[in-house]
Amino acid sequence: MIDLKRFWKEILNGLSIKLNALDYSTWIENLIPLCEKDGTFYVVAKTISAKEYVNKHLIDTINECLVEKFPFSIINKIEVIADVEKKAYISGENISTFETPEVEEIQSNLFPEYTFENFVIGNSNRIAYFAAQNVAMKPGKEQAYMSFNPLFLYGGIGLGKTHLLHAIGNYVKKNLSRLRVLYVAAETLSSDYMKASINQNRSDFENTFNINSFREKYINTDVLLLDDIQFLENKPGSQEVLFNIFNHLILGGSQLVIASDRPPSEIPTLEDRLISRLQSGLLIEIKKPSLETRINIVRKKMEQFELNLSDEIVYYIAENIDTNIRDLERNLKNIKLYIRMTNTITPSLSMVKDFVNKELREKEGVDSNDVLEAVSNFTGITIDKIIGQKRNKEYVEARDIFIYLMREYFNLPYVAIGQLLGGRDHSTITYSHDKTSEKIKTNKDFAKKIEDLKISLNL
Ligand code: ADP
Ligand code: MG
Repeated sequence: MIDLKRFWKEILNGLSIKLNALDYSTWIENLIPLCEKDGTFYVVAKTISAKEYVNKHLIDTINECLVEKFPFSIINKIEVIADVEKKAYISGENISTFETPEVEEIQSNLFPEYTFENFVIGNSNRIAYFAAQNVAMKPGKEQAYMSFNPLFLYGGIGLGKTHLLHAIGNYVKKNLSRLRVLYVAAETLSSDYMKASINQNRSDFENTFNINSFREKYINTDVLLLDDIQFLENKPGSQEVLFNIFNHLILGGSQLVIASDRPPSEIPTLEDRLISRLQSGLLIEIKKPSLETRINIVRKKMEQFELNLSDEIVYYIAENIDTNIRDLERNLKNIKLYIRMTNTITPSLSMVKDFVNKELREKEGVDSNDVLEAVSNFTGITIDKIIGQKRNKEYVEARDIFIYLMREYFNLPYVAIGQLLGGRDHSTITYSHDKTSEKIKTNKDFAKKIEDLKISLNL
């Protein structure tokens, strides 16, 4: 009986000499030996892309190595399969297997409600929509030409960039379920990288998120959807790692889709080499929707929110809320709420007018002080205690709520929120925000509290 562990170790030794260091560490080290069956030794690559890369470029060297190291072995061939295929190989007879840890299912972080079906197409976003759909149907190396990779979408806030990224992800998950998809905000990438760097020397602790887990998370994807990349401004470390991830993924035939509020060339401090990489695929702007598109959007959202509004009202809203789609959506939600609270069946135009005008006025007026004040009134904790350093349970909760609102509804960067709270560290703020998001999901009473507070602030 052949010792499979020793066997694979020998092959690795041989390959580390035959291959250049980059190929070895990128492609070979990540392979996980699976089993031996009828003279073939199977190893597992995390993704289909990785499997195909190895089979195309490195498999001959691997088998050469086999012949040199084990000329008389019963194993006469090494084959690379993808993780999703491995079940088929470890059943049946005549099989020697390894104890391999199950590969964890990655979290895709997708919002199921953001789909192509409920995205309204107009002149402002048509090209972006079709490019996104194209990429979703044929991600990465499936495209005949590499011109859609990376797909870079940019445009102002609330115009549907995040929606399209998720739509791609949801489509791929549904129709090409073998592929690994990951949606992530650049801010998360950056904080993951920081966490990983801090833990760099602690790889002895199994559950610590370290550089290896970081690489695993980002590199083992077939479709990486990276949102709000403008956040990497002034973050040379994160830019460097993105550059590496980028090269790795594109080289391996994975698909990259990136969203930003500006084109790459307008993000100050972005390194030239990264700019040129980001521009090497397809760069598409999403513009503000026209009146006609806004009307269509209002109609679509009415269906979604089960709202019944007259044509007159639809027109009034679409004409007056011309900033972006998020604002349109918020107004409709507020109207819905109003209808529910007042038991009105069909709201009148004058009521909607009041509503929209009020919202327009107040939206301009609301700032962080209003939010702080509202949180203070709401929780009964004074503002100086919210900002202060004491960690009493009630103070911390009020602080958490403030952080959450500033982040979710004003889209303020973590660092800026930290500054509003007396110079708190950005990781503290990130932690608090994550904690609150989780709590909203699991604690109904708390979610209700936040909801009421939002209404009182007109958010
Ligand atoms: P961005 O990422 O560009 O800031 P989002 O994708 O978050 O914008 O969009 C804001 C909101 O508007 C989301 O709820 C999204 O579903 C909605 N939205 C944006 N564009 C469209 C569209 N064309 N059709 C339907 N809903 C849209
Ligand atoms: Mg967005």
